[in-house]
Amino acid sequence: AKHLGRNNFQIYEVSPEYAQEHGMALKTRLRHAEGNGELRVVYQPQVNTETEDIVGMEALLRWEHPELGTISPAVFIPLAEETGLIVSIGEWVMRTACRQAREWEERYGLRLRLGVNLSAVQLMEPHLLDTVAKVLTDTGLDPDLLEMEVTESISIKEAPNLLENLHGLHELGCHIAIDDFGTGAASLDYLRRLPADRIKIDQSFVRNIGVDPDDEAIVRATIEMAHRLKRAVVAEGVEIEQHLEFLRAHGCDELQGYLFCRPATPVSFGNLLAERQRL
Ligand code: C2E
Ligand code: CA
Ligand code: CA
Ligand code: CA
Repeated sequence: AKHLGRNNFQIYEVSPEYAQEHGMALKTRLRHAEGNGELRVVYQPQVNTETEDIVGMEALLRWEHPELGTISPAVFIPLAEETGLIVSIGEWVMRTACRQAREWEERYGLRLRLGVNLSAVQLMEPHLLDTVAKVLTDTGLDPDLLEMEVTESISIKEAPNLLENLHGLHELGCHIAIDDFGTGAASLDYLRRLPADRIKIDQSFVRNIGVDPDDEAIVRATIEMAHRLKRAVVAEGVEIEQHLEFLRAHGCDELQGYLFCRPATPVSFGNLLAERQRL
């Protein structure tokens, strides 16, 4: 595989145990993180399996705490959900990433798809569609380039606005990807009922390629099923050549993972695009 530029290391100093113990303090601090300019968005490329060309990117949130260092979203997103802060933080991520994607489109003439993670809390929000529509108008990004990544963490039955919101996003011209596919309780129900364009195979399966034949079978079956349903497939957590070869042999459409590039700052990602353009 062509390595897409230098690796961008992220050091997380806050463990989930620390976060548990200092949850209250972190929540209070998180309230001001956006205003204090402590939030950042990094971008990880998604490549076409055949050509290894960059075809898209996922926006991933970081919190740079002045004393604690970079805090993992796995730690602070749950706190943001509990406090409801995820709604304004999520809007900030969407706006920042759409503006960035538009800037790269203008500068490099590349139409890269942008994946943005949506929390279950945002998906149940009655104002979600207004927010997305406003962000698209304000930034000028083509809705066709925006893909919302949703997980199967919530049951469709228990989430009143979920289906409406997802259909509404489609009507706005955005795409939907089912994230962490295969790990939720209701994968097939989601696949059947959601207007999803793409499936992201969870990294827990990809990691076991070459290790566990059962997980390999699940990966192959997921790709085949997705294609029969006319959905595209991205594999996450592609770390080694062996993963790439297996996924390529079984027709996975796109790949994302450390083998190609770690999540990169806007400056590094821009350099990567500039480099590619010169090739
Ligand atoms: P996710 O959506 O499944 O994102 C993929 C995660 O896998 C990212 O972790 C990414 O850095 C990591 N990753 C990518 N390639 C590899 C690889 O080859 N190997 C391994 N081991 N990991 C890889 P990250 O950035 O720490 O994000 C963790 C989770 O936090 C995300 O999982 C997502 O659920 C959530 N998250 C991140 N940004 C946002 C956001 O803006 N909004 C919401 N609601 N959630 C977010
Ligand atoms: Ca994701
Ligand atoms: Ca995922
Ligand atoms: Ca995940």
